[in-house]
Amino acid sequence: MAQYIDTLSAARIAAGIKAGEFSAREVAQASLDAIAAREDAVQAFLQVCPELALAAADRVDAARAAGGELPPLAGVPFAIKDNMNLVGTRTTCASRMLENYESVYTATCVQRMLDAGCVPVGKANMDEFAFGSTTDSSAFHPTHNPWDTERVPGGSSGGSAAAVAAGEVPLALGSDTGGSIRQPAALCGVVGMKPTYGAVSRYGVVAFGSSLDQVGPFGRTVEDVALAMNALTGAGKDPYDGTSQDCPVDFCEHLNDPIEGRRVGIIPAFMEAEGLTPEMRAAVEAAARELENQGAELVEVDLPHLDAAIAAYYVIGPAEAFSNLARFDGIRYGYQEPDCANLDAQSSLSRAHGFGPEAKRRQMLGAYLLSSGVYDKYYYAAQKARTLITADYASAYERCDVILMPSSPRTAWRHGEISDPTQMYLADLYTISINIAGNGGVSVPLGLGADSGLPVAAQLVGPAFKDRTMLMFARALERGLTDAATGAPALSVAPAFAGKGGELA
Ligand code: GLN
Repeated sequence: MAQYIDTLSAARIAAGIKAGEFSAREVAQASLDAIAAREDAVQAFLQVCPELALAAADRVDAARAAGGELPPLAGVPFAIKDNMNLVGTRTTCASRMLENYESVYTATCVQRMLDAGCVPVGKANMDEFAFGSTTDSSAFHPTHNPWDTERVPGGSSGGSAAAVAAGEVPLALGSDTGGSIRQPAALCGVVGMKPTYGAVSRYGVVAFGSSLDQVGPFGRTVEDVALAMNALTGAGKDPYDGTSQDCPVDFCEHLNDPIEGRRVGIIPAFMEAEGLTPEMRAAVEAAARELENQGAELVEVDLPHLDAAIAAYYVIGPAEAFSNLARFDGIRYGYQEPDCANLDAQSSLSRAHGFGPEAKRRQMLGAYLLSSGVYDKYYYAAQKARTLITADYASAYERCDVILMPSSPRTAWRHGEISDPTQMYLADLYTISINIAGNGGVSVPLGLGADSGLPVAAQLVGPAFKDRTMLMFARALERGLTDAATGAPALSVAPAFAGKGGELA
């Protein structure tokens, strides 16, 4: 029977290559074929890099032929969000500003995936400079949700999530400043994890909000995400990122442990929040019951300052983005406006024409918030709120091992359906406070919603550097939804794309 790349997990691909069932080249070619057949409809990639992919695959096959020990993810294709540098590719951040920017070095997170044997197939689309929740703000083209191509995949790492959901690749890297891994994972029906701040190096990733940004993996199974986490953190802290910390755990160990007797926190205010759709709420409640059936105890926890999270984020994020994006001045980096009368005109016209509307809105907001007189009122208040929210989480974790909550208030919406920026920002309700506190969070698919027929999801969040515990609960949810007879997970590749190209020769 024909075997397609989209039916194979990363774990299964690596095992198959080790066992000689298929070669790394065959797998890379199958991923490239799937991309060729599906991209017209999905448009998850800004750039596909077949030469790099096949060369990396050939190195894996040569190592196997030489009888050497293969690294854990040898031959597994992966997609890279286009704010991460990889030598041999452009890193555009989906912006005209960086349209022709060739990576001059490789980001640590990407390098570690390469060191684990992964095969880079391309750079994934995103919201411009990672500002957004739809991927529609990409300067080049939108990405379509594989479950309904008239809908958004979420964002900002929408290309990474869609590439996995369409079965083009089993793994992808994204970045998450306020939800940009977990929200698109939820909308596309895949697993997406934001590790604890500091667990993964940000070196070589174009900065948005430096105190919030964190890199993490997408996969179709919790185990694949755990394997990617091992690749990202296994070599210890990165001397090139001062916030990077040692994370000496094997994320696959204890993944299948029972959760009996463990405590799962529920935040009642979150379950009652305006905007949470009935089907999403029902899905998260069913997830809570599933964990309870497996022996966990549900406890109510209260985080009194959560109300301030969105406001605090939309002060701290834009303020940091404003300082980070000041470097794109049309002189050293990025788009350069031709024929300018003087340097001032060159800088302002390059910025005016290089950045899209949302990138400008964030920077103007940041400039205002940091201006004298205004700074004390907003930025200072936001930092205070941040301290209180972080303390809220710390005290909540005295009462539970993890907290279960929605990842997104609703399923994927249509392109253009939400046009008011404030409405868009409010949809970040469930992800933002985790970045503010610096903890980890993982979004787990829970099947299709009763009303929309689109992927629904829940989020598990854990204390700082307890990301492995969080994955153990994510695996418990996944186990609960797996068909015991066939072993098929609740959701895999969006059916419209399964088996479209991507056959292993
Ligand atoms: N939607 C959020 C924002 O627009 C999150 C973005 C992100 O995590 N990069 O800021």
